[in-house]
Amino acid sequence: MKKVSIIVPCHNEEANINEFIKAINHELFEINVILEIIFINDGSQDQTINKIKALMTSDDRIKAIDFSRNFGKEAAVLAGMDYCQGDAAVVIDADLQIPIRYIKILIELWLEGNKLVLTYKSKRERGIKSSLASKYYDVYNAISDYKILNDALDFQIMDREVIDVICSMRERERFFKGLTGFIGYNYKIIPVDIEQRVAGSSDFSNINKLFNYAFKSIAIHSDIPLRISTRLGIIVSLVGFIYMLYIILSTFIKGVSAPGYASIIVIMLFMFGIVLLILGIIGYYLGLIYNEVKNRPNYIVNDFFDNNKDDL
Ligand code: UDP
Ligand code: MG
Repeated sequence: MKKVSIIVPCHNEEANINEFIKAINHELFEINVILEIIFINDGSQDQTINKIKALMTSDDRIKAIDFSRNFGKEAAVLAGMDYCQGDAAVVIDADLQIPIRYIKILIELWLEGNKLVLTYKSKRERGIKSSLASKYYDVYNAISDYKILNDALDFQIMDREVIDVICSMRERERFFKGLTGFIGYNYKIIPVDIEQRVAGSSDFSNINKLFNYAFKSIAIHSDIPLRISTRLGIIVSLVGFIYMLYIILSTFIKGVSAPGYASIIVIMLFMFGIVLLILGIIGYYLGLIYNEVKNRPNYIVNDFFDNNKDDL
């Protein structure tokens, strides 16, 4: 029988772990595959790892990767994919925002021969945050080399072939949704009705964090922000040139007028602003490159728990 791994990144999810497994047992009991459930404890400060270990005493399908500290969801997903042994893997959040019944749908689609099935949020809540998010996808797709679905979720099923390709890409600064766009496999898409978080709080509720995430994900997959400088430079010099013509003409027509240092200051401020903006963008990319060349591991595993094996 085929084996499917369910990869669950967890950061402070103590209140959701039991419910998660209950939902798996309830929704997936008659599924025609063997399940492997890998929880990645991503430096939780609560009892997440103990909750997982308690469940492991009576459930051999469950495995746990315990990170030495918080490395972020992207690293947790990668670790799950590195360790999983399934013929396919599903990535899903621990907070039950994505109803577990959808895992069954993904597995069925995979069994039908789809190597990659992606999902997106079917309906979006109204509000500033979600309309910003929607604009973000537009901007991302306009300037990135590879497209992602509007409202794409990390929730997806990947065939072993896809898992191996994604695991072979070891960049430190990762953006999972962009990677599936990059590899270019044919995929199927299904909509998912998202629920409210059952317990705990979202790590991405902070608008500042969200903005950083949005900018970084664009920078990882596109160098257009770097190339903006050339275009801005051309536009600014063109404006400067037109202004120069205007000054020459008005000097001829009206003669030398008042000293006009106001315009000089305006131009200088404008130019400094642009130069600083571009320096900032270059600095940002430099930071990304710096992180990559250090070549540090994507994550550090403190412990790996698997009832079917001796601890690694
Ligand atoms: N998560 C993680 N490491 C982090 C932040 C989040 O493993 O540093 C996990 C979290 O436990 C959850 C999933 O990633 O299972 C999605 O996180 P969250 O619900 O906070 O994000 P949102 O639903 O707001 O996108
Ligand atoms: Mg969530």
